[in-house]
Amino acid sequence: MSDARQLLADAQTAEVKGDKAEAIKLLRKVAEIYRDKQLGTKALKVLRHIRRLEGVDEAAHDEGVMPFETQVFEGPTPARTMPERGPVLADPAVEAWCSFCCRPNSEVGRLVAAPTGTFICAACLKAATAMLLT
Ligand SMILES: [Zn+2]
Repeated sequence: MSDARQLLADAQTAEVKGDKAEAIKLLRKVAEIYRDKQLGTKALKVLRHIRRLEGVDEAAHDEGVMPFETQVFEGPTPARTMPERGPVLADPAVEAWCSFCCRPNSEVGRLVAAPTGTFICAACLKAATAMLLT
C-alpha cells in the first residue's frame, strides 16, 4: 500500500501547487493500484476526485479536497464501513456486472449499486419492481 500512499502524497503536493494535470496523472496510478488490489471503494473515491479536478463531477465538489487521504492505511485492512446505506448510481467508468442477470454494464448500461457491493440493471429492476408493486 505504500506505493499508493506515496503517489497520493505526490498528487496532493501537485494539486496544492496548482499542477492539476500532474495530480490527475498520479491519481490515475493510485486508482489502478486500488483496482488491482480489489479495493473498489477506494478506487471509486480516487476516480471521483479525478473527475472533480477535471471539473466534470460538479455534484461531488462539496466533498472537499482529497477526502480519501485519511482512508489510506498501512498494515492490516481496517474493518469495512458502509457510510452509504441506500442505492447509488454506480460509476460507469468502473467495470461491474448486474448481480441478478450477471450481464456487464458495457451491455446493460448504467447500474445501481448497493452498499453490499452488488448491482442491479434497469431490466432486472423493472422485473423486480413489477413483482413488488403488484
Ligand atoms: Zn440485470
